[in-house]
Amino acid sequence: MSVKLRQNAAIANESTLKDSQHILFVLSSIDDKNIPFKDNLVIKLKRIKSKFNDLNKTPLTIELPNGGVASYVILDHQLNMFQRHTLLRKAIKPIISEQAENIDICVFGEEAIKEAHTCAAYYVVTVNAANLPSRKKEHKPNALKCVTIHGYKATHDYAYVNARVAGNTLCRELTITPPNDLTPTVYRQKIAKLASENGWNHKEYDMNALKEMGAGAFIAVAQGSEQQDAAIVHLTYNPANAQKHIAIIGKGICFDTGGHNLKPSKYMLGMHEDMNGSAVSLGILLAASQMQLPIKLDCWLAIAQNHIGPNAFKQNDVITALNGMTIEIVHTDAEGRMVLADTLTLASREKPDVMIDFATLTGSMITAVSDRMSGVITNRSELATKATDADSESGERIVMFPYNDDFDSDLDSDIADIKQCTLEGDADHIHAARFLGKFIENDTPWIHTDLSSANRKGGLGAVESDTNGFGVGFGLALIKRLIN
Ligand SMILES: [Zn+2]
Repeated sequence: MSVKLRQNAAIANESTLKDSQHILFVLSSIDDKNIPFKDNLVIKLKRIKSKFNDLNKTPLTIELPNGGVASYVILDHQLNMFQRHTLLRKAIKPIISEQAENIDICVFGEEAIKEAHTCAAYYVVTVNAANLPSRKKEHKPNALKCVTIHGYKATHDYAYVNARVAGNTLCRELTITPPNDLTPTVYRQKIAKLASENGWNHKEYDMNALKEMGAGAFIAVAQGSEQQDAAIVHLTYNPANAQKHIAIIGKGICFDTGGHNLKPSKYMLGMHEDMNGSAVSLGILLAASQMQLPIKLDCWLAIAQNHIGPNAFKQNDVITALNGMTIEIVHTDAEGRMVLADTLTLASREKPDVMIDFATLTGSMITAVSDRMSGVITNRSELATKATDADSESGERIVMFPYNDDFDSDLDSDIADIKQCTLEGDADHIHAARFLGKFIENDTPWIHTDLSSANRKGGLGAVESDTNGFGVGFGLALIKRLIN
């Protein structure tokens, strides 16, 4: 999708907007007096027994005299980015749902806050106007061709917002794609195409290579599929001006049946989205290269499926991971930490400055924080502050969890170096992180992201679709903080 952008420094009025059919009014305070079509707005506010000030909690959409529609929202000073994005999403929803071709964003208020408000509004409009895969015969695609900003003219063309939108959209496209349309084979082909289009270095470790290397943790999961098409894919973006070396790692389970510890149907439905962590990583890589960030970015994708079958791994199996550690299998549905273990080892051997992984990993993280936010665990306290700052900037919310070593005793095994997990599952999100940490070499600084908010019914923050691409914005904001 390529949307044309026009920027107009003049404040919008009824005459400049007389031909506009789809308008978003972004007001900065409850004091804005001269907003266009105020009479029509006041009539509707009266009708629904609402007040002007309520627009900072509930955006309102009105019919315009020319037959168009306009939404009004007030972005208060005290609101954080998540709250602003949420209000803007609600405001733009009735406009996007009409397959608008042209949208006018009219910004009001003090000069100092206009840049931030325009950025947020432009992001929320364009990310929700992206087209996602649909197999419906009657599908009505979004048709946004042009966005005109009134009331603020930036010195840039929002290329970094466009890059974030491209990354988020790629993440959602891949995640939503049905599992019969995104097998590991197809996924690997798509990744190879993206790599050649974007000039990324591309290398694959297929099943034969991984067996030879001794990547037993990854193999344990992937051996259960009839088609032996799993692989660890390694992509690199490496510009000449790279200042730091960062690795991102994504869980890419294209379908998760749970394996021999089979999921019940209620919990298996939707498990084609268990590759979301790899899609988040690809989204970040795409956006970072479009933004031309001065970093070397390694992207490691653990792509496999978790199937039942005669060759599938089972409880009490003991396998040897790439780093030589033996693992006692406790639950075949805890496959994510298995494929990630060897992938983290490979990533850490390249000695990056920081590693960040993304994975739809544990149900206990959803129990802990719901699907409204995601959980983050790190082996460095200074990285926790950067992660919290990245939440504030991106509007993608995270909660920090501890990484205390006394949890390790729960993973003691009688027969192997470590147990894969426990069956109690109370603190499985922390156990999973403690487990994963054992496979990182060179004491590499590391941030683990458990994507509990990858899918929330009715959307989340800026994004209206259930699958919301959480992690792309957070990851980009975090990486920008790691450069400095
Ligand atoms: Zn699983």
